[in-house]
Amino acid sequence: MQPLVARMWPYQASVFSEMSTLAAALGAVNLGQGFPDTDGPEPLKRIAMRAIEDGSGNQYPPRHGLPELLDAACAHQRAWYGLDYEPSTEAVIGTGASELLAAAVLALVEPGDEVIVLEPWFDIYPAAVALAGARAVPVPLTRSGDRFGLDVPAIRSAITPRTRALLLNTPHNPTATVFTEAELTELATEVIDQDILVISDEVYEHLVYPPAVHLPIARLPGMRERTVTIGSGGKSFSFTGWKVGWAAGPADLIAAVRVVRQHLSYVSSGPFQPAIAAGLRFPRSYFTEFATDLHRRRELLAGGLRDLGMHVYDTEGTYFVLTDSQALGWDSGAEFVNHLAHEAGVVAIPVAPFSTGRFDSLVRWTFCKRDHVLATALDQLRRADLANHGVNRRQ
Ligand SMILES: *Cc1c(COP(=O)(O)O)cnc(C)c1O
Repeated sequence: MQPLVARMWPYQASVFSEMSTLAAALGAVNLGQGFPDTDGPEPLKRIAMRAIEDGSGNQYPPRHGLPELLDAACAHQRAWYGLDYEPSTEAVIGTGASELLAAAVLALVEPGDEVIVLEPWFDIYPAAVALAGARAVPVPLTRSGDRFGLDVPAIRSAITPRTRALLLNTPHNPTATVFTEAELTELATEVIDQDILVISDEVYEHLVYPPAVHLPIARLPGMRERTVTIGSGGKSFSFTGWKVGWAAGPADLIAAVRVVRQHLSYVSSGPFQPAIAAGLRFPRSYFTEFATDLHRRRELLAGGLRDLGMHVYDTEGTYFVLTDSQALGWDSGAEFVNHLAHEAGVVAIPVAPFSTGRFDSLVRWTFCKRDHVLATALDQLRRADLANHGVNRRQ
């Protein structure tokens, strides 16, 4: 028998590292894992380096986060969304959004409770729910045209007396949907009616492409008091290795998250906390230029994939473009990705591991790479035979 606790058996693999390893082994272009291949803003690097040099960042920071970062995170929520949080009681800093998500689930969900997750999901959600000894209840997004949408009637049917929380993610990874005010309002009515908490993963809040607009669900009437909103310095400032995240919410929920989180990593990222604090106070121009630059790269990749005969879904936000492999005769996105890796030297991520079998033909591609990397990938795809000629080909 393996020593791993049984509730974690389903979560041993990470398709992201598997695909990055495959890309490295084959010397393939990696459009799988979503990390930028250029650094974030120089001034933030200098702040982190100075904090190491002058010693201010080298010992334990305060357990709930550096006061200047808590202040900056709350100022950011106020400036961007008109949401008011008190830094000393209504915010907390963590080792990336990941730790805060896990801490929120562990702090707010009892063993045996149910947590609704949107399907396809981000891989750490069901794992965090399993860690808490709770049960993840997947509710699939609906496909209408080239967009994935929130299915509130299906969420309503999935709610039981054991449902404690809903893990929301907008902008959504991997579908790249930014949920609309109408969708979130319908959802808010439901969770308020049923007295359910919302843990809202908004790490892609600044990676949104007009006309889409990001709306934190905490903004809606009756939602602030039941929502923990989570953001990420890795995603907003292109420093995914720094692992600085923040959460904001009402004092009772944040007090709970703080208790659990302090017993996980206690503190982390000493030199990076003041740097991210400075980033959160950047003028709006930084964020709009960041989104404009990513939008251009989205067009490059989405246009290129479309020209290759792929069915490309809308990207309203995030780093990702989603395609459906059935257009090229593949029912299995995983087989298609394997074919691409070997035949074209390009690696992407199959969506199958993030679902219960409903989205097997989907593949996720990232465009947060330099232009010449995207161009090389498209060039190699153009030269390869992408269609499925195998026995499983659809007739
Ligand atoms: C990257 C990502 C995270 C993790 O953020 P970190 O700050 O790197 O921990 C959480 N949720 C989603 C949807 C992500 O894509």
